[in-house]
Amino acid sequence: MKKAIIQYLEQLQVSGITELYRTKTSKHSDSDSAIAFADKAEVLAEKKEAYKDCRKCQLWTGRDKFVYGEGNPEAVCMVIGEGPGAQENLQGRPFVGEAGHLLDKMLIAIKIKRDEVYIANIVKCRPPNNREPEQVERLACLPYLMEQIEIIQPRIFLLMGRVAAQTLLQSNQPMKVLREKPHDFLGRQAYVTYHPAALLRNPDWKKEAWIDLQKFQVVYTALQQET
Ligand code: SF4
Repeated sequence: MKKAIIQYLEQLQVSGITELYRTKTSKHSDSDSAIAFADKAEVLAEKKEAYKDCRKCQLWTGRDKFVYGEGNPEAVCMVIGEGPGAQENLQGRPFVGEAGHLLDKMLIAIKIKRDEVYIANIVKCRPPNNREPEQVERLACLPYLMEQIEIIQPRIFLLMGRVAAQTLLQSNQPMKVLREKPHDFLGRQAYVTYHPAALLRNPDWKKEAWIDLQKFQVVYTALQQET
C-alpha cells in the first residue's frame, strides 16, 4: 500500500500537483460530517473549474467538455471507468450514454443509487473514435483522479473494465484474472468487472458481471453499515 501511495504521489508531483486535500473532520459526528460534506463538494467544484482547460495531453484537442466526475462527495464507493464517450463529451458528465444507462441498471441491481457513489474516469477528455487512452495520456490525467480519491476518501472501488483496472492496479493481467478476486488499491479493496460498453458489445458476459457485482455488494453493504 505504502509503495503504491508513494508512486502515485510522485506522479502527482511530476504533474505539478503538490497540495492534496485532506478531510479535516471526523465522519462520526453529524455536525462535523455536514461540514466535511460541504467542504468536499466545494473543493471538488473548485478543482473541476481549475482543470477544465487542461492541455497536459493531446486529448484536449478533441474535447467539447471536460468530464471531471460527479456524485456523492462522501461516497463509500468510487466507480471508475476508462474515459468519456461521445455523450459524456457533449454533456460533461461521466457515464451518461448508452453504457451509462447500463451502469445505472447494474448499480440498481445491487441496490445502489447512482447518486450514492462517486463516478469518475481514468482520463477526463474523450479519446478520438473511442479508442483506448494511451499510456502517456493515462499518466498525464491520473493525478486528477488521485486527487479526487484524496478528497473523497472512499472505502472501496469498483473498477469498470480492463483499462481502469490495469492502470490503477499497475497490472498487465487480463480481465479473467483481474476479476477473480478483490485487490488492494491504496489500502482499500478494489473490485473489477466489465465496463458496461463491453457488456453492450458482448451480452454473454453479463452473467459473469452479475457474479462480480454480487461479490462487491456483500462487502459494500457491510462497509455502509459501519458508517
Ligand atoms: S485527458 Fe486529462 S491530462 Fe489530457 S488534456 Fe484532458 S484533462 Fe488534461
